Amino acid sequence: MIFDTWFTVQQIDNYTYAISEYGHWEKVHSFLLLGNHKAILIDTGLGIDNIRRITNQLTNLPIEVITTHVHTDHIGSHGEFEKIYVHEADKEWLVHGIKGLTIEQIRKDISRDITKPTPVTFNPATYQPFQGEPTDVLNDGDLIELGNRTLKIYHTPGHSPGHICIFDETNGYLFTGDLLYDETPVYAFYPSTSPVDLIASLERMAMIPNVKKVFGSHNTLGLSPAILEEVKIAAKYLKENDLVKFGTGVHTFNGFSVQF
Ligand SMILES: [Zn+2]
Ligand SMILES: [Zn+2]
Repeated sequence: MIFDTWFTVQQIDNYTYAISEYGHWEKVHSFLLLGNHKAILIDTGLGIDNIRRITNQLTNLPIEVITTHVHTDHIGSHGEFEKIYVHEADKEWLVHGIKGLTIEQIRKDISRDITKPTPVTFNPATYQPFQGEPTDVLNDGDLIELGNRTLKIYHTPGHSPGHICIFDETNGYLFTGDLLYDETPVYAFYPSTSPVDLIASLERMAMIPNVKKVFGSHNTLGLSPAILEEVKIAAKYLKENDLVKFGTGVHTFNGFSVQF
């Protein structure tokens, strides 16, 4: 077991780890998936501390980073890795910065409500989110073959234009990024988000067969697939009541909520 001052490492199975940042109010999870010849790291966290310190302890395999979407809390340590992938609709933000978000707002969000000691290298006054060119772009339907497991990419826009979910078809793990998690509202209330796209993406995810566990990028680690049935009910309710639009507020369901 790994003990670390900032990151919490939890083993999901012999080849899968969650690397979590419970010391920050966002409770972000990144995921390391070991294959036969390479490993996939789904997101790289907040960038308050260096996630590479953890992945170095967990595997010697070359690591490729897959980005669920380009928001500050998911690309923090991208600069530590040589190969990074992003959906083409979020590529622009990775290269030039996240549209509509000021650096002042980013620094405010990254530095509030921290409950663990942060490393001396972290300075909220000078914090800069990663910017850089990806190695390549991802598209809907792409398959990533790891030898012992196959990952399928689903383009699931709404929370961001290029948001993706990753389905580990071999193990039935559905990594939902910021499209679906519990405890705090999933959001699509920024100008750069789309409530209509978010609901369509949720409906699409809920139709995937053989999901055994849902892993969102925030809050509780690992959710029962029963939440996908609740998603179907929620989407139907929101559409029937004409609530899928900006300004309708927080809508709470059994196990999750959305904010438009
Ligand atoms: Zn996000
Ligand atoms: Zn997030």
